[in-house]
Order: sequence, then C-alpha cells, then structure tokens
Amino acid sequence: MSSAVTPSQLIDRFDRQINYVRLSVTDRCDFRCVYCMAEDMTFLPRNQILSLEQLYDVGKAFVDLGVTKIRLTGGEPLIRNNVLSLVERLGALEGLKELHLTTNGAQLDKYAPALKAAGLTGINISVDSLQADKFRQLTRTGDLNRVLRGIDAAIDAGFSRIKLNAVILRGRNDDEVLDLVEFARHKCVDISFIEEMPLGLIDEHSRALSFCSSDELREIIDERYPLGNSHENTGGPSDYYRMVDSSIRVGFISPHSHNFCHLCNRVRVTVEGRLLLCLGNEHSADLKEVLDAYPGDSERLQHTIRQAMAIKPERHHFELNDDEPQIVRFMNMTGG
Ligand code: SAM
Repeated sequence: MSSAVTPSQLIDRFDRQINYVRLSVTDRCDFRCVYCMAEDMTFLPRNQILSLEQLYDVGKAFVDLGVTKIRLTGGEPLIRNNVLSLVERLGALEGLKELHLTTNGAQLDKYAPALKAAGLTGINISVDSLQADKFRQLTRTGDLNRVLRGIDAAIDAGFSRIKLNAVILRGRNDDEVLDLVEFARHKCVDISFIEEMPLGLIDEHSRALSFCSSDELREIIDERYPLGNSHENTGGPSDYYRMVDSSIRVGFISPHSHNFCHLCNRVRVTVEGRLLLCLGNEHSADLKEVLDAYPGDSERLQHTIRQAMAIKPERHHFELNDDEPQIVRFMNMTGG
C-alpha cells in the first residue's frame, strides 16, 4: 500500500469521483440477522461466484483506476476459505491506501492478528445488542460472547481503525443505544448506528414499524453525552459526531432520513461479479462475464468499469413500505 494520491479516473455523470469499492467475497454467512436475511436462505452455487484470483483482479483493476479504499464484506467475509491470501495480495497493491473489512466478529479471535499482518488497516464489527439472549434473537444464530472476544482480539491486534456497527430496530434493541455508546467509549472504538434499509423481502418484522431514525437516536445520545455541533464525514456513509469527554466518534448512517447520495464516492461488487452502481437501485454491469471470457485482461476489465460510471444513478429512494421491497436482493447478496 502507498500514500501517493492518484486522482480516480472514475467520475460519474454527476461529477462524483469514485474512490471507494466494497467488494463482497461471499454471500454466505454464519448469522441470519433478522433485518438482513430470511431464516431459510439459499446461497449461490460455487460455480457462480468469483474465485479469489478474480476478486483480486477486480480489486487491482479498481486500484489501477485510482480507487484508494477497498472494503471486503459479504455475507461474512471471514468464512470464505483462504480469504487471508486475498487480504495479503490486495494489501500489497501500490496505490491502495485503506483496506478494510466488515465482519460479524465471530471469527476475529482466530484471525485478527493474521489480518493485521496481512495488511488490513481497519475493521467494522457489527454488534446490535449487548444482551446475549437478545443478540441471539436478532442474529438468529449468533453467540455474543464470541463476538465480544472478537472485538477484544481486534483491539489487541492494534488496528488503528475499529468501528462497531449497530442496526437499531424499534421495540427490539432501541433501549440499548446508550449501553452501546457506553461500551464503545469503554473500548475506545468508534460506533455507527444504521437505519434499517428495505433490502430483500422479510416477514420476521415490519420494517415500517421497526424504523428508528438517526435523529431520534442522536437526541437520546445527545441528552446523555452532548454530541457537539460539528459533524465529520470520512468518505464513508457515516456522519460522525464527537463527545467532549471521549476520543471516540459516534456515527449515523441515515439512508432514509438524510440521503447521502450527493456525496456518494463508492460502488459495490457482488460475489457474482455484478458491479452495483448504487445500493438502492439495480443499475449494474457484469464483470464476471469479462473475467470469465478474458482472464487476465485488465484493460478490458477497466474499460467495462469505466463505462459503467455512465449508469450510476443520481440517488436512491427508500420508502417505509412493507408490501414490496424496493430492492429484492438481500444485504448479504449486495455486500453490506
Ligand atoms: N457479515 C458482516 C457483518 O455482519 O458485518 C458483513 C456483511 S453485513 C451485510 C454488513 C452490514 O450490513 C452489517 O453491519 C449489517 O448490520 C448491515 N445490514 C444488513 N442488512 C441491513 C439492512 N437491511 N439495513 C441496514 N443495515 C443492514
């Protein structure tokens, strides 16, 4: 990785420069979070997903085009066989400044030191509850203690950027917002609260009834820990606030209430090799077709990626409507 800045060659119709890619390495997950997936999921057959070599080729093509940040995600990225080798290869790319991972944390006590050694620079860990039984209900299969051990392992491994992510659902975990902030303060890690997005059809709860807006959560936190007026954006979707008596940041990701599309600097690649230009729209380009037909042809891959910028939509429109999801793909397919 290097600190030299190359301007991105990826600029869309709205003059937004794309310098951040979220690369999904698997659609599979060991958790079944109620807002993310159905309980009974069918995952992609192995012949439909990109090989690790192809995932590397995609990452490299983007970096050659001026992308400086890659986030590996899924599904659960740490259950993909040999994912460390991909981290190592991407981590060595000249021009890449940040290589991050989003994980449920369940495997981190095993992998954190190796990920750090392989060149990973930041980790987001999802934790929606600090109560074991509630955590199990929300994730359907998750073991809170393993995740807590994973968080400690990431801290011990010395990552400079660690952030917790919590999706807050009314009536489920909205009573834990302050406990989660307290926990993040105690561990000295950032935390972001995410509004639930209408990705995939779920019947476990009503997305409309469970919706909690970022403004509401910010007020709850602000009463206990004044958040100050200035907010920061670090190039991701979170709007961050600081507290006077702590070094950590509290972020809010508000795809419903504060549309952040005008600042969008990112695209996603699903593990099927579909380049998604927007989280809340279906505009996409098929990179797998190019990777399969022309293995090793980076020029052609870069050309396809450059062309796709012309179809990046201006914005998404999420509505609180349970009858039909606006986007039928689940978040584990999209790459969260
Ligand atoms: N397995 C990893 C994890 O648990 O972080 C990475 C993939 S997960 C899909 C990435 C993030 O997306 C998690 O923080 C998760 O809470 C969030 N997420 C999933 N479905 C969502 C939804 N419908 N609305 C908002 N956030 C969602």
